Amino acid sequence: MRTTVGIIGAGPAGLLLARLLHNAGIDSVVLESHDREYVEHRQRAGILEQGTVDVLRAAGAAERLDREGLRHDGIELRYARTRHRVDFPALTGGRSVTVYAQTEVCKDLIALQLADGGPLLFDTEALAVEDADGPSPRVRFRRDGVEETLECAYVVGCDGFWGVARRAIPDGRTFERTYPYSWLGILADVPPSHDELVYARHDRGFALLSMRSPAVSRLYLQVPAGTDADSWTDDEIWAELDRRLETDDDWTLQRGPITQKSVTPMRSYVHEPMRHGRLFLAGDAAHIVPPTGAKGLNLAVGDVVTLARALTHERDTGSPALLDTYSADCLRRVWQAERFSYDMTSTLHRAPDADPFEDRLQLARLERIAGSRAAGAELAEGYTGFPY
Ligand SMILES: Cc1cc2nc3c(=O)[nH]c(=O)nc-3n(C[C@H](O)[C@H](O)[C@H](O)COP(=O)(O)OP(=O)(O)OC[C@H]3O[C@@H](n4cnc5c(N)ncnc54)[C@H](O)[C@@H]3O)c2cc1C
Repeated sequence: MRTTVGIIGAGPAGLLLARLLHNAGIDSVVLESHDREYVEHRQRAGILEQGTVDVLRAAGAAERLDREGLRHDGIELRYARTRHRVDFPALTGGRSVTVYAQTEVCKDLIALQLADGGPLLFDTEALAVEDADGPSPRVRFRRDGVEETLECAYVVGCDGFWGVARRAIPDGRTFERTYPYSWLGILADVPPSHDELVYARHDRGFALLSMRSPAVSRLYLQVPAGTDADSWTDDEIWAELDRRLETDDDWTLQRGPITQKSVTPMRSYVHEPMRHGRLFLAGDAAHIVPPTGAKGLNLAVGDVVTLARALTHERDTGSPALLDTYSADCLRRVWQAERFSYDMTSTLHRAPDADPFEDRLQLARLERIAGSRAAGAELAEGYTGFPY
């Protein structure tokens, strides 16, 4: 098999890159180790920055997003039983975010890719990237028990944190933080109890009220790292959410049947560089942020927009200039998102060894955001997205 761009992974990064390249007239093949059902139903991100929505629109992939996505003009911060709304348009000159699940973004992109006849091979596991720094790199993969080779002009590793592409970069440098806590996330068949996301700091730990649609709530609890989701009963989860989200006014949390429960570890991670020869990394393959800032999917989108532009420029002008700056261009934005996600995480979560001094500092940070337009704008700008 032969193609111009071999893409490993059909998550948001790989699927959107294939779409952008198709629109630019550049052929690609996407290899995905899981089946279509798995990719379309893996519950993860749900917040799209304004820039991500604009990119999906320009790519012709936003027809359902425009119909079903929920525009949000703010978030609520909750601490010491009080509530403070961060008004995004007022603080950023009109920017907002859109709630539209990653599962739906993937479904839309898969449908477009298959309708266009673009090769998207499920149940196909990339085993290794070979000759990444030579003139014609290859992806060795296995399908139906048979090993084959995909010959490419370029290979893009969009294969997430556990993928194989990053291993083909011989002298990379990694930067990492792990956290002593995780998120226990649930999906519940109940309308969201608030019309915007609620980020709650509590002495018992962080809680987040979010949503997937007007009928489905997505809620999270900070739990110790290594927690087994099944060790929490549904009643225990609702009771703990009640405690951490409680306010002094008459707000109440609506309960409903829990349809899914899972635990997500928290990690900050960056691999530098994001390129080796003709191999490029994009999305979670190169960097991970804790989910508190809702940045992971949006960073993946930023990477592949930058890469598609660079590949198109090279095809049109013969100049590799934008490919040469791809890694540095992406990493500037990645580190801004790492910093933002780290700040959000450490302001809202309670470390197991936190002392009263740390508690007071967290509350002081939150009061500063509530009381200062500049501090509120700093949060709002970061949340709605850094420019490409
Ligand atoms: C609970 C949770 C909540 C989140 N919330 C948000 C949010 O609100 N906003 C946000 O922006 N981000 C959020 N994120 C992060 C976001 O989901 C990820 O950053 C995003 O999925 C990255 O996309 P990706 O395409 O780079 O990688 P992935 O989505 O991980 O896709 C990688 C794909 O590669 C495939 N693959 C792996 N290895 C191979 C191989 N060897 N061969 C072939 N295929 C392979 C995998 O099967 C997978 O389909 C959240 C994440 C979690 C876990």
